[in-house]
Amino acid sequence: MDISSILQGGYQHPVSRAWQSPRQLTKSMLMYPIFITDDPDAAEEMTTLPGQRRWGINKLEGFIGPLMKKGLKSVILFGVPMKAQKDPKGTLADDPNGPVILAIKKLRSLFPDLFIACDVCLCEYTSHGHCGILHEDGTINTPPSVERIAEVAVNYARAGAHCVAPSDMMDGRIKFIKQGLMDASLANKCTLMAYSAKFASALYGPFRDAVMSAPSFGDRKCYQLPPAAKGLARRAILRDAAEGADIIMVKPSLPYLDIIADAAQLAPDHPTACYQVSGEFAMVHAGARAGVYDLKTMAFETVNSMVRAGAGIILTYFTPDFLDWLDE
Ligand SMILES: [Zn+2]
Repeated sequence: MDISSILQGGYQHPVSRAWQSPRQLTKSMLMYPIFITDDPDAAEEMTTLPGQRRWGINKLEGFIGPLMKKGLKSVILFGVPMKAQKDPKGTLADDPNGPVILAIKKLRSLFPDLFIACDVCLCEYTSHGHCGILHEDGTINTPPSVERIAEVAVNYARAGAHCVAPSDMMDGRIKFIKQGLMDASLANKCTLMAYSAKFASALYGPFRDAVMSAPSFGDRKCYQLPPAAKGLARRAILRDAAEGADIIMVKPSLPYLDIIADAAQLAPDHPTACYQVSGEFAMVHAGARAGVYDLKTMAFETVNSMVRAGAGIILTYFTPDFLDWLDE
């Protein structure tokens, strides 16, 4: 079967089926990014991300249970190895006893209705902190990078993830992951959400603190997009749609609303997602603390701008707040 034959990955779950329809801001549009660490009893606060914590798997029931009662539909998991030794290939990413694989299984058994997405990247797990495998000179070696990233994605799907979401920005990884899912007979059981237009933004600082994934040398400007590069973003969106993505994502959101609108127009038959990233979340909080605006009003204004631009799925740390606010 050819890559272009596979559509079912995009509508294999009640939540992702709902995403195929037009809408206004609702609870089912919210995907909550959560950080899972390898200390099973952790509930560590993070000063740079107000109200957010690094969670151990033993704490997931108490953390997610009350949110499910309020209408939480989906989460995206980020692994944070604190204790284990990192290596150049990111072996920890799909360690069967690592935090992500254990969390997928735990959440599937605790909350059968929860849609579980997994961020797929190597930077949290590599000794050098880059999102792929490197040549000796420190540049990205693309073929082994996409092979390894696809392997990680398939292992998350095998563990029960409903969605894999590669954030690495390596060329060709969407095609490799889709093929990997097809070879493992998982392509109709797992949604592929592509971080298609991910920009080299100044807004990722709090996230890098949260997962401790700052590169040990250099930066990510050779694979994340230059902030002013509209044409490149449009090409990346079209490429990922053609390579088998089920959902197209733009990241960050607020400074890139035109790109969200471009994604909605260039790939009108795919759901458009956007990630209101850590720095955007921290910025809204900081402004509210400084008395510039009311937190809730500004949170709604930012997210509604994303919906207006064309986003149907919003990844946001405000998810627990919106679950309360949308009931008021
Ligand atoms: Zn990365």
